[in-house]
Amino acid sequence: MNNPIDTTLKADWRASENYQPRKDGRKPDILLMHYTGMETAEWAIRRLCDVDAGVSCHYLIDEQGNITQMVQEQYRAWHAGKSYWHGETDINSASIGIEIANQGHGKGYPDFPGIQMDAVIALSKDIMQRWHIPAHRVIGHSDVAPRRKSDPGEKFDWQRLHLEGIGHWVEPEPIGSDRGFGVGDEGEEVKALQTLLRDYGYNQGMSGKYSKTTRDIVTAFQRHFRQQRVDGIADLSTINTLKKLHAALVHSASKPNWFAG
Ligand SMILES: [Zn+2]
Repeated sequence: MNNPIDTTLKADWRASENYQPRKDGRKPDILLMHYTGMETAEWAIRRLCDVDAGVSCHYLIDEQGNITQMVQEQYRAWHAGKSYWHGETDINSASIGIEIANQGHGKGYPDFPGIQMDAVIALSKDIMQRWHIPAHRVIGHSDVAPRRKSDPGEKFDWQRLHLEGIGHWVEPEPIGSDRGFGVGDEGEEVKALQTLLRDYGYNQGMSGKYSKTTRDIVTAFQRHFRQQRVDGIADLSTINTLKKLHAALVHSASKPNWFAG
């Protein structure tokens, strides 16, 4: 095989056999961020290359900012699992995945080092340019699987990424003292919230009942867009941040072709 590494950045190659063609030749237009949730980057790489584990990812970035590629970008890697975004359920076929080494919520959830985030930014820009992935299609695993996943989590610096042209983000609205909506609440306002979440991309039905699913989706939204408090309660700060995101997206110059059609 010729050099299998897709990125022009310095990267190591560790082959994983856990991949297949993308469904119907789908070109990736989502960049999906993860954390590994394992003790070390090396253990995570071994697992992502282990045939018996049945998981994989295109890239892993360790705490020192070293990049390892395991699956070529043209192929469907197995990192998203059962997931949903904007009407699509085969997120593995639609995306390129980056695993960021971090022990995760189960083991103290350390900060992402600056040098690691530098590499995340450089690699994201490189991938986005080559595949024409729009900024707002850079999202987290918890966004596409909010009932199962919490990575990359509320310490992931989406604001810095946005300033670099990666990912959609607005300054979150300040937290007030309102009670907000939670599990058990129902009515038109809950339905309006659910509609906004659904229209943004989340797998949210519009029952008007604040279910556990709604709570988990609001939690995922907060991990990404209102990181100051992650509690699954839709307070005014959360709702108004979501509205602001929608408004910014409509006016965004980076609006992709698929959005109109
Ligand atoms: Zn993940």
